[in-house]
Amino acid sequence: MNRPLRPAILLVGGTDSSGGAGLAADIRAAAAHGVETRLAVTAVTAQTNGRVGTVAPMPPALVAEQIACALEDGRVSTVKLGMLADAAIVAAVAEALAGFDGAVVLDPVIAASSGGLLLSEAGIAELVGRLLPRTTLLTPNLPELSLLASRMDEPRHAGDAATDDIAARDLPAGASPSASAARTLLEAGAGAVLVKGGHDTGGEATDVLYRKDGAPPRRYGTPRLDASLRGTGCMLATAIACRLAAGDALEEACGAGKDHVRGLLAAEDG
Ligand code: PLP
Repeated sequence: MNRPLRPAILLVGGTDSSGGAGLAADIRAAAAHGVETRLAVTAVTAQTNGRVGTVAPMPPALVAEQIACALEDGRVSTVKLGMLADAAIVAAVAEALAGFDGAVVLDPVIAASSGGLLLSEAGIAELVGRLLPRTTLLTPNLPELSLLASRMDEPRHAGDAATDDIAARDLPAGASPSASAARTLLEAGAGAVLVKGGHDTGGEATDVLYRKDGAPPRRYGTPRLDASLRGTGCMLATAIACRLAAGDALEEACGAGKDHVRGLLAAEDG
C-alpha cells in the first residue's frame, strides 16, 4: 500500500552562519512539523548573534532556477519567503512564482535583530509592488509594518534608487500596533497581515491578524517571556506555512504557529 506523501513546502531565504535565523531556523521549524522542505537560497550571510558581516546575494537567475526545480513535481503547496536581499532577487522570485497557485507566506525580513540590513531600499519598493499582491499572509513586526506602510504612502520604484546596495539607514522604532498600517498593506494586495507584537512593550506579546475579507481582527495574546531567541520571526512564518500545507485554515494556522514559537521561547526561558 502506498503511504500518502507528506506535505511539502518551499523555503526561500538566506543562510545565517550563526545558525540562529534564516533557512536553518526555517528547516528546524518545518522538521518539528513533519513537513518536507525544498530550498531556494537567496543570499549567504556571514553573521554572529551580534553583527552582520558580508551579505552575498545569489544571482537572481539561480534563485529563479532553484524555485522552478523545487516546484517542478507539483508537490509544494505552500511557499514561505524570508530574506530576499535586493530588488533583482525580489523580481526573480515574483516571476518564478507566477504560475504557482498555492499559499505564499511572506516574512518581510529587512534587518537582523543585531541591526544589520538584509534587504536593500530598492528591494523594499519591489517587495511592496511585486510580491505583496501575491501574498496570502504577510508577517511584519512593528518596525517592518510601519516601514512598509510608509512606502505605500510615498510610493517609490526600484528604478528611482541610485544604487541597490544594502546601505545603513534607520528603521522606525516600534510604534503601537497599527490597524491603519495593516489596512494600507491589505489595500496594496496582501491577502492577510499578521502584525507581530514582539517589539511592543508591556506584559503581553500580542499578534493581530487583519484580513482582507473584512473579518474582525483576531488577536493572539501570550505573556511576554524573558528569553531572547533569534530566528523567532522565521520560525513563526515557517510554522504557519507548515500548518497551511497540512490543510489548516489561516486563523488556526496562525494560532498554531504562535503556539510553536511560544513553546520554543518557554524552553529558552527555562
Ligand atoms: N539572517 C537571516 C538570513 C534571516 O533570514 C533573518 C530573519 O529572517 C535574520 C538574519 C534575522 O533574524 P533575527 O531577527 O533573529 O536576527
